[in-house]
Amino acid sequence: MTARVLIVDDIPINIKLLETRLMAEYFTVLSATNGLDALEICATQEVDIILLDVMMPGMDGFEVCRRLKADPKTHHIPVVMVTALDQPTDRIAGLEAGADEFLSKPIDAVQLIARVKSLVRLKVLTDELRARAATGQQIANENSMRVMDSISVDGSSVLIVDTDMQHAERLKQDIALKHNVDILEDPSQAVVCLAEKNYELIILSMSLAGHDPLRVCSQIRTLEQGRNVPIILVAEEANRAQVVRGLELGVNDFIMRPVEQHELVARVRTQVRRFRYAAELRDSVSNTMQLAIIDELTGLYNRRYFDRHLALMFSKAMQQGREMAVMMLDIDYFKHVNDTYGHEAGDDILVEFAARIQKNIRGIDLPCRYGGEEFVVLMPDTSQKDASNIGERVRGAVESAPFITSAGLSINITVSAGLALNVSGIGDAKMLLKRADVALYQAKQAGRNRVVFNAA
Ligand code: GH3
Ligand code: MG
Ligand code: MG
Repeated sequence: MTARVLIVDDIPINIKLLETRLMAEYFTVLSATNGLDALEICATQEVDIILLDVMMPGMDGFEVCRRLKADPKTHHIPVVMVTALDQPTDRIAGLEAGADEFLSKPIDAVQLIARVKSLVRLKVLTDELRARAATGQQIANENSMRVMDSISVDGSSVLIVDTDMQHAERLKQDIALKHNVDILEDPSQAVVCLAEKNYELIILSMSLAGHDPLRVCSQIRTLEQGRNVPIILVAEEANRAQVVRGLELGVNDFIMRPVEQHELVARVRTQVRRFRYAAELRDSVSNTMQLAIIDELTGLYNRRYFDRHLALMFSKAMQQGREMAVMMLDIDYFKHVNDTYGHEAGDDILVEFAARIQKNIRGIDLPCRYGGEEFVVLMPDTSQKDASNIGERVRGAVESAPFITSAGLSINITVSAGLALNVSGIGDAKMLLKRADVALYQAKQAGRNRVVFNAA
């Protein structure tokens, strides 16, 4: 995981110190010695995370942070405020300015790397969402930006695991305002707990009576439901070496005792947000897939999917010497329907028409809305006779009963259909489709409301 880190500090030696540590972990480091330069760099260069000193002459860190978070071009960049030791007031001001994280001076190397990595992981996800929104290729993606901004972290389900109930209750108090918190006193039940409820964060004490916290972590990670749940360790100074092991095991973050409320709130927020972004990303991938292959109005496959699928099925059928039929359908005088009853009534009819097609073809047949009021059905392993029967069944099903629109109109509809088979001499799928189209044209010419088989 490599990332571009911008260090902002008015004292060059501080920059040097952080730079050395970050470069040892292969981060790329940029630097600025004042707020204005920092804003300039963020506006013109790719920055993945900012380490921002609070105390600077001129524009202080809070103001820089506020400006970054107010600008839509930079508001997604995570900001880590670097504060003087034990300054809760700084933290509150930082949170209000929109800071994502805090580090206290003197900066601890383990904390530095853990925080930076955790935020970079979060940013990778937000960048992915932003990239999808930016391409604008798929309708679903246009929502991603809005979705990302609207994902709240409130009301998340958090599990605190601690054998010391007093400790656990105190942690719970700190975050109970925004999160639904359960406490688990017996760490050996963690796996059971996770199976019963979808937790979005686990806060695990490292001071467990009779249990190894890292073993609990690895048990959680082997569970399907626990693989992606963020884990925050609550550590004592003496646990330092174990914390490093934990981070290697896939623990997402840690917090030192005594736990400072604002720090806990900020860390919980970051982890829950990351978890929810990741879930959103998975959902939007499947939505995007749906939108890419399904016609929105009728729920049938769309043309793009059909063309690709037909090409595949055609060459397979030809290779294996199997029969295959294609049926093109076009509603008769549909323009007249629209002109008479309105476009909305027309849409209702298209939906019902698709449903009648679906009801009268077989499970193996693939129906598609090819465009407008034109539909096509791919029928694998189908003879001329079978295809004609199916065509006739669909035609009859359309003619037999009027279509009722949502406004209560009753409209009689008929359909014409053209059929073609993959006989020898047909070179590719396009040609097969062309034949069905020619047959459809013949059906229209012959008076409509009929099925014609292409014999050419
Ligand atoms: P024909 O019997 O020769 O097929 O006549 P037609 O009127 O059905 O054919 P034409 O191709 O002239 O007109 C098709 C009409 O279908 C034009 C348009 O108003 C309508 N149409 C196409 N797509 C949609 C749609 O998504 N919704 C609605 N309501 N109407 C559509
Ligand atoms: Mg037409
Ligand atoms: Mg038509």
